[in-house]
Amino acid sequence: MTSNEIMSLANTILYHKRKYYDGEPEISDEAYDSLEEKLRKLDPVNPVLFIVGTPEGGKITHDVPMLSCQKALDVEEVLKWSQGYDLFIEYKIDGLSLSLTYNEGRLVQAATRGNGVTGDDTTIVTMKLKSIPKTIPVRERIFIRGEIFIHLSEFQRINALGTESYSSPRNLAVGTIKQKDLSLLDKRKLEFFAFELIGFEEDKTLSEKANLLQEWGFQIAKIESLTTPSKENLSAIFLKTKREREILDFEIDGLVLKYNKADERNRAGMTAHHPKWMIALKFESKGKITTINDITWQLGRTGVLTPVAELTPIDVSGAMIRRATLHNREFVETLDVAVGDQVMVIRSGDVIPKITSVERKGQNLVTLPKECPSCGFLLIKEGVNLVCKGQDCKEREIQKIRHWIKTIDIKGLGLKNIEKLYDSGYLKHFSDLYDSRLTETKLVSLLGKNGSKIYQNIQQSRSLPFQLFLAGLGIESLGLQMGRILAKYFNSWDELESAKISQLVTIEGVSDLTAGYIIEGIHDPSLGKALLDKGVSISITQDRSRSAKSAKNDLLNFIGKKTQEHSKAYFNEDHDLGKKRSIYVTGKVPEMTKKDIKDFLEKNNYEWASLTKSLDLLVTGEKPGSTKLEKAKKYGIPIKTWDEFQAELP
Ligand SMILES: [Zn+2]
Repeated sequence: MTSNEIMSLANTILYHKRKYYDGEPEISDEAYDSLEEKLRKLDPVNPVLFIVGTPEGGKITHDVPMLSCQKALDVEEVLKWSQGYDLFIEYKIDGLSLSLTYNEGRLVQAATRGNGVTGDDTTIVTMKLKSIPKTIPVRERIFIRGEIFIHLSEFQRINALGTESYSSPRNLAVGTIKQKDLSLLDKRKLEFFAFELIGFEEDKTLSEKANLLQEWGFQIAKIESLTTPSKENLSAIFLKTKREREILDFEIDGLVLKYNKADERNRAGMTAHHPKWMIALKFESKGKITTINDITWQLGRTGVLTPVAELTPIDVSGAMIRRATLHNREFVETLDVAVGDQVMVIRSGDVIPKITSVERKGQNLVTLPKECPSCGFLLIKEGVNLVCKGQDCKEREIQKIRHWIKTIDIKGLGLKNIEKLYDSGYLKHFSDLYDSRLTETKLVSLLGKNGSKIYQNIQQSRSLPFQLFLAGLGIESLGLQMGRILAKYFNSWDELESAKISQLVTIEGVSDLTAGYIIEGIHDPSLGKALLDKGVSISITQDRSRSAKSAKNDLLNFIGKKTQEHSKAYFNEDHDLGKKRSIYVTGKVPEMTKKDIKDFLEKNNYEWASLTKSLDLLVTGEKPGSTKLEKAKKYGIPIKTWDEFQAELP
């Protein structure tokens, strides 16, 4: 048996272990035991055999609590704290803290920091990370703590695949660790910096301990050790690190400084909250501090609730910010954010408001809604989200209808009209748009004289390009971009319907998880099938004989071709084919040269123009120019991120 086969056997065992803990075993206990037996014979030291049997997804109480880190405002404060002691200085990594337990020389357990006392069990996931050694050459029970993170280049590579987009490398790392799809760990490269060794050589300096960790195969985030700290040398290190930040392939947000010598650490001791021998000095933030007045939970079409912070309005780099997303349930719990807290708000990419930290806690504890705000159904936790699974949830259905209408662009049916039709009982589901009961007369009687025009618009949407039809269904992970990819691979609905997961995952950019969502969604009789049954048809045109260029050009050509072929069907007056819309792109778009972008715009009936008053749209890539943004704001030109712009293309 080759090492590849051993690895695949180990993966099979991990898979079934996971299924067992999830309460969905696929094989009998005997069959499972015989798999383990087989592996034990082939590779008696395989790490999979040494996992401590706590249920994945359960909580683990840390043997030694994982405390917080106190923060210094400036170099002066660090100097005062240092008392002239020797210091050990590391990068402050923006990642996910993990505590690893080793016993008898083997990794036996891994857990996230959680609230510092108990964290989530991530043992099985951690076993799959190549950056974490599974064995070390000491037999004592010891703990190694560190930070999981992802390289910026890897972050860009994954986001460029376009299947799922993450707002930051940290979110991507956290998302990868916490989701249930173990196969993603083979496709995404997560890194680990060890920053603490507990329970071994406790009388040594931190420099010596760090050397030990390196010998055992860990990466460390050491910058340097410093004797006799002064204002000058601390400032120099801070400035040097700030410059390095621009070129490092991972995100850092400051320095962490620690007393290097053991006796000085022991003398300093700790509070209930943080060790006194450690302090962080963060880079100054461009953000502002404001108060959260309320947290509203907005229901989306998949039943997922998104928390939104209502803020005391504040000016952040030139724009008045009133609200900011809190992403999901887990973000709220991890950030420990509640009404009354003061939070730091930045504008990410200088555009989208983002809450990055809680600066001062208010009186309130974190509270999560228990019932769906729309239908009152009890909410359940699903992954990082809170989800409503109510069968008769008005808001969710309305969001689904709205998503269909927005995606395929039926004019005249805004939220108000959709609600009117929903309440009338004639539009309970988006396929009802094509129901014979919804006649022109009916629409006129319900919506007034515009009803006639709306009726015609609906009828015109009965024949749709494949990718629009797919994107409109509202299936998780199946947006326009994925719709285009699928439309390229499959010639008809029937062909897609009979596709297997194993077939989908061979397509570039489709993960196991995405493939699962797609298969599930395609077979949901209330989605595609419901529309086809009501007479909606898919128009397929595809030139299979085109010359094979690079995959990217191929896709760009394809998008352009489809756009021209189908533009008449769904372009509105604003997108009149004769008149190109003018766009200026500021900042870098990953994986695309300026020429790529120009070609792409050209094919989608846009042109790259200079930034004047008459410009139609400013699109921002990475690190957009601030003067361009200011100019666009002054002229009142709409601003969109590249992702938003792309997502709205037909
Ligand atoms: Zn509901």
